[in-house]
Amino acid sequence: MKNKKRKVKKKRIFGLLFIIILIFVIIFLIFNLKGNKSLKSKGYSNLEIAEIEKLTSNEITTILKYDYNKNLIYMIDSENYNSSKLNLYMKYTLKYNDIDYLKIFELINNENFREDKIDDYIYYLNKYDEINGIIKFVNEFKDKNIKDNDITILLLNEKYFIEDYLNRYLSYYNTHKNLEASEIIKRVNSKLDYKFYDDSSKADTSKGMYTLVNKFYYLSNDFVPDNLVNVTGIYARDNAQLNSTAYENFIKMADDARKEGLTLKITTGYRSYNFQATLYNNYVKIDGVKEADTYSARPGYSEHQLGYSADLTNDKNVSFSEFEYTDEYNWLKNNCYKYGFIMRYPKDKEYLTGYIFEAWHYRYVGVDIATYIYENNITYEEYYEFFLR
Ligand SMILES: [Zn+2]
Repeated sequence: MKNKKRKVKKKRIFGLLFIIILIFVIIFLIFNLKGNKSLKSKGYSNLEIAEIEKLTSNEITTILKYDYNKNLIYMIDSENYNSSKLNLYMKYTLKYNDIDYLKIFELINNENFREDKIDDYIYYLNKYDEINGIIKFVNEFKDKNIKDNDITILLLNEKYFIEDYLNRYLSYYNTHKNLEASEIIKRVNSKLDYKFYDDSSKADTSKGMYTLVNKFYYLSNDFVPDNLVNVTGIYARDNAQLNSTAYENFIKMADDARKEGLTLKITTGYRSYNFQATLYNNYVKIDGVKEADTYSARPGYSEHQLGYSADLTNDKNVSFSEFEYTDEYNWLKNNCYKYGFIMRYPKDKEYLTGYIFEAWHYRYVGVDIATYIYENNITYEEYYEFFLR
């Protein structure tokens, strides 16, 4: 009996011991699988390990292939973290640890990043912050023997950069070295490296309602648009004509404005070549060519001949110069794009459009384009050159 009891006791102790050892083994295995011990030996702190352990075991394996990386936690916690690029983050933030890791992180995340070009990227990353420009330059332009690498990288970084215009940008830069890259792009895309009227060519009317007419693009003297309708009743101050689509949308706009107690009336819409000629020549007689050119288009160069533009006034029939101070103008400024209209000659863009600020002149381009132009605060010249050319 005594012996039997002892045996049972022994069995229990062994059983308990076995369970304890098993628990230890399981705990050890769990930690080991998760890399805790290995991460610790790499030098990661407990806080860092807690973050790293939120990753998959594949990601942890990748991390363990490299030495301790002091920027790892910032990268994996970033909203731009891409697990498939973890290997690259680890490799190159450690290799080029004298460069801000955020730049390398952004570089690797760029959709055009190419690992085989990494040394070239890094070379320019030491000099510039413009990641997009650097990547485009290294990928596409470095082998083209461009002299002005510096400004080229800055130009390439710009949203509205047009590759075909690179030489024009560079020569404009050479005579305007104080300008920023964005300003050079804006000006050259608006053709300011050419002369108003002197360097003009025929407008591309195959673009229909999107046709650009300005001091560089003219309509022939026999151009008359299709689909003109008469503007009548409460929507007109004088007899006027407008493209039917533009007019439909103008009516919607004027009706909505009226709900807020505002009146929008068209004074002129379409103007024929001959009408514009008479108008312009009269202005020249009064003010001279130079002055007249700032506010009136030469015949053929008027957007009104296209049929998509309207000059507006309100119920008091205020003059054009007074329109800027009306409630109607204030409303149009933030609402006309919803109906597909843009303010064609905005304030502070006189040098781009070639016209003084015209609070009263609106051009129909459709809601999508009007919205883009409104939200990005660009002129139709800039939009057209980049998206529609
Ligand atoms: Zn006008």
